[in-house]
Amino acid sequence: METFDYVIVGGGTAGCVLADRLTENGRHTVLVLEAGGKDDGFWIRIPAGFSKLLTGARYNWRFETEPEDNTLMRRIVVPRGKGLGGSSLINGMIFVRGQAQDFDAWAQSGAIGWSHADVLPYFKKLETFEDGESETRGGSGPMHVERVKLKAELAEAFISAGEQAGFPRNPDYNAGSQDGFGYYQVTQKGGRRWSAADAYLRRAETRPNLSIRTGAHVTGLRLEGRKVTGVDYRVGKQAMSVEVRGEVVMAAGAVQTPQLLELSGIGDPEHLKSVGIEVRHALPGVGNNYRDHFCTRMNWRVKQPITLNEQARGLPLVASVLQYFATRTGILTLGTGLAHAFVKTRPELETPDVQFFFMHASYANAADRALDKQPGMTIGVTQLRPDSVGSIHVKSADPYAMPSIRPNFLSARGDAETLIEGMKTARRVIDQPAMDPYRAYEMSPGPTVVTDEDWLHFAKSNGQTIYHPIGTCAMGIGPRAVVDPTLKAHGLEGLRIVDASVMPLMVSANTEAAVLMVAEKGADLILRDARGGASRAA
Ligand SMILES: Cc1cc2nc3c(=O)[nH]c(=O)nc-3n(C[C@H](O)[C@H](O)[C@H](O)COP(=O)(O)OP(=O)(O)OC[C@H]3O[C@@H](n4cnc5c(N)ncnc54)[C@H](O)[C@@H]3O)c2cc1C
Repeated sequence: METFDYVIVGGGTAGCVLADRLTENGRHTVLVLEAGGKDDGFWIRIPAGFSKLLTGARYNWRFETEPEDNTLMRRIVVPRGKGLGGSSLINGMIFVRGQAQDFDAWAQSGAIGWSHADVLPYFKKLETFEDGESETRGGSGPMHVERVKLKAELAEAFISAGEQAGFPRNPDYNAGSQDGFGYYQVTQKGGRRWSAADAYLRRAETRPNLSIRTGAHVTGLRLEGRKVTGVDYRVGKQAMSVEVRGEVVMAAGAVQTPQLLELSGIGDPEHLKSVGIEVRHALPGVGNNYRDHFCTRMNWRVKQPITLNEQARGLPLVASVLQYFATRTGILTLGTGLAHAFVKTRPELETPDVQFFFMHASYANAADRALDKQPGMTIGVTQLRPDSVGSIHVKSADPYAMPSIRPNFLSARGDAETLIEGMKTARRVIDQPAMDPYRAYEMSPGPTVVTDEDWLHFAKSNGQTIYHPIGTCAMGIGPRAVVDPTLKAHGLEGLRIVDASVMPLMVSANTEAAVLMVAEKGADLILRDARGGASRAA
């Protein structure tokens, strides 16, 4: 059987960082096993291809939630990237680090060594920000971060309306304070998507000590007692195995990392027995502590033909395509967000608790992003730090079966209250004079939605995930923690987890930046142990 020093399960966002960093010094052999294919699709590079990738199957696992009361028994689509680059291949490219307090809360919850002061150097290390290096921003990292390339008239009006409603204008929400309105920053280079594979794998893939296998679906871990000794996987119908000298590093993401642990007999014994899987190691936290961002979309009819709804069809679209290929500017550089707002729904709050995603476009159905024909605009409203906690567990021992995803959205009373206040704030912003030349009328939820009960019903019937599952193998020190602060699985030898699943609490942000940071720090922790150094995270 083949043997490697490290086997990385999943060549996604974190997997690409790990593949690069663990092979950089040339001392270790590394194998990446990725179930999806290469990242060579046409729509990947063009940011506006986002909507195609969201609905297509080639780069997307397309999971869905179980029906739940709080979301009126709707099955909500849970897209997850599939292929080298993982979810960074299909995501909306919005780059937000989060608030300093998020990481301080991680450290306080038991993730010692992950406070803001500890993680800031990794956030700086991972990025090349368009404006260059500063005290808070990085200027020479592999991930390129640019400001959105478009300054639309309607977005300018939205930002001015935010100021009229009493919020500040904020030119860089990643530099300290998140508060206020402005334009998003995106993971792009020269107007093209810059995935984790572009950033980290391209420069590493020719190294002789790195092997990358695509189409390799991992089916479970090999264990001898408490030691993880390798990985079983399948390429097509062929079953294969690989041995590991050092560690298996799980980077299959917040949905599939807990799934693979459970398939290997690692998890809550009661649950494993209930689905007929032999218990190899009891870790009751596996698959629990699942958190996600729940987002409602409010939209308005616009008086003037200055929105994507008209610009992304017919002759204007042809002109935009030519503009994009000539200059890498224009509407094709847009992913999911144009202008942002981070707002406090109560003035006494220390930091914002709600995020807005403003687009000069409207969709009848957020899940497929088909644009309306008449001019429109949308504000996505999300609560930044939800307390609602759900779970992701296998339903059977079949490695190809979809796991049971139960987000439990809006189950914490405070989450519903914050979201309702957030939606009211969005309506208040659009009611400002700066929007008078543009606002025709509110289409959704519409003026008949007035009471808190109305708003809650709208959220339950309309809200979706914005694709940020985390926490299903949470880092910490208590009995529910799955990994310790060095990302080693509790009670096992030879197993680390380095992906979105280890985040103990939600960050006030879209999650890619934090995943990249976790992977940069995770790689450092692994290499430190390989050098025989201290294994403490601090
Ligand atoms: C549609 C969408 C839009 C998003 N928009 C944004 C955004 O605008 N900004 C932002 O910051 N974040 C966004 N996110 C979230 C962000 O992209 C993720 O949090 C992050 O990329 C997750 O990284 P990861 O390494 O944990 O998992 P992933 O990047 O998902 O990687 C997991 C990898 O493991 C592979 N894998 C899974 N199971 C197996 C198996 N059994 N065998 C082998 N390989 C396996 C998968 O194919 C995948 O490549 C979005 C996500 C999605 C899906």
